[in-house]
Amino acid sequence: DAKTFQNLISHAKEYGYIFQSSEIYDGLSAVYDYGQNGAQLKKNIRDAWWKSMTQLNDNIVGIDAAIFMHPTTWKASGHVDGFSDPMIDNKDSQKRYRVDHLIEAYVETLEEAEGKAVIAEMERLLAADDLAALKQLIIDKNIKCAVSGTANWTDIRNFNLMFSTELGSVSEDANTIYLRPETAQGIFVNFLNVQKTGRMKIPFGIAQTGKAFRNEIVARQFIFRMREFEQMEMQFFVRPGTEDQWYEHWKAERLKWHKEVLGTPEEKLQYHDHVKLAFYAKAAVDIEFNFPFGFKELEGIHSRTDYDLTQHQTYSKKKLQYFDTEINKNYVPYVIETSVGLDRLVLAVLSNAYAEETWKKEDGSDDSRVVLRIPPRLAPTKLAILPLTKKDGLPEIASELMAECRSEFPCFYEEKDTIGKRYRRMDAIGTPFCVTIDHQTKEDGTVTIRYRDTMSQDRIHMSEVKKLVQTACK
Ligand code: ATP
Repeated sequence: DAKTFQNLISHAKEYGYIFQSSEIYDGLSAVYDYGQNGAQLKKNIRDAWWKSMTQLNDNIVGIDAAIFMHPTTWKASGHVDGFSDPMIDNKDSQKRYRVDHLIEAYVETLEEAEGKAVIAEMERLLAADDLAALKQLIIDKNIKCAVSGTANWTDIRNFNLMFSTELGSVSEDANTIYLRPETAQGIFVNFLNVQKTGRMKIPFGIAQTGKAFRNEIVARQFIFRMREFEQMEMQFFVRPGTEDQWYEHWKAERLKWHKEVLGTPEEKLQYHDHVKLAFYAKAAVDIEFNFPFGFKELEGIHSRTDYDLTQHQTYSKKKLQYFDTEINKNYVPYVIETSVGLDRLVLAVLSNAYAEETWKKEDGSDDSRVVLRIPPRLAPTKLAILPLTKKDGLPEIASELMAECRSEFPCFYEEKDTIGKRYRRMDAIGTPFCVTIDHQTKEDGTVTIRYRDTMSQDRIHMSEVKKLVQTACK
């Protein structure tokens, strides 16, 4: 709910996961920085995706294309003309809205059937580019949303979401270039480079992770909708006629990945078929996650036909074709795309993991903690090594264990505060294992291992620690 979500946002800041960008200057809207724990969590999720895509598939390779691309790229892709959202301003509240968000929020207050009818009408008007009628709909339905007073609206305008800048220093020569709004185009323009140099045979895929930029009209919901964010995309090139089968394949594979690799509970995931398709798309589905503010898009799987490659062929006048030796034919391949937002995954993992727990202790008094139950393989720190006291040679033993483990996985060393306080801090950060070195360690080499999720403790030999943590974090 809303309160837990606010608590999660505060927690993410307090424990070094996510900070508002340029906070000392009061922040920059819809831009965030990842702190010491957030950056590692994000990297672990990115690495898990990269491994699943490239290492575990013979026929998928990864690239890293530049953020800046030749400006014609975005003409060919349709972004210069079509990558816009209709927006409207409320003159009373001086607030700006994306028309679909405004209507979405209003529709939630209606009965389902009526809501569907309003959405359908809105989509029809949008598709017909009848912005005047759309504005009238907003007025007629008295869609005020969170706005108080009379609904006094401006006309609806289309607002391009791409950020532009100039390349070169002499303004007459300057070329307007864009910060990429998606990573996919860097893959399409490199299709032949990779196919030829990698001797790739269809079907094959190209994967990439990297920053994308969109001048979102309204920034909402923490890192769910950002102006600078990271995408992880894979374009899978197939023989025309086989696209439906590959679309089903990737649709199933990607849902499985969220469950098996990220450990997302099945009931928090759902498919959502696109009703309205982009004109070139054959099929499109979203994988939605149940965020603290409801089911929302996490990933898209799109059957894009040969649209992108054909467009780049037309604009660049270079052939982007493949000779298929199995059927002795030249063709422009069809594309199935999987596109997931890394920041949205971080938010999904954190909101799955965040728990405020209270219980009764043996003496009847109350106890509580906040814990991040992040799956061990994704947790930023895997193991905390805690000498019980700062003396009696315990820190020295702890340093030995630290030296043994730190080359294998991220460890954290801490000798300040009571052991109870140190455990709570590790719970809050989401560290799955803590090991305490005490006086008995000096005698028999055993340590106390404490498990984050159950808070239970075991005594094991120091030599077993590394293996145990490695196995659990695989
Ligand atoms: P939305 O409808 O939420 O604006 P979209 O349909 O425009 O998203 P795509 O263009 O399909 O999104 O982008 C693929 C993925 O990139 C999305 O599933 C999402 O995870 C991520 N993404 C898109 N826009 C943003 C953003 N502003 N902030 C964070 N992640 C984003």
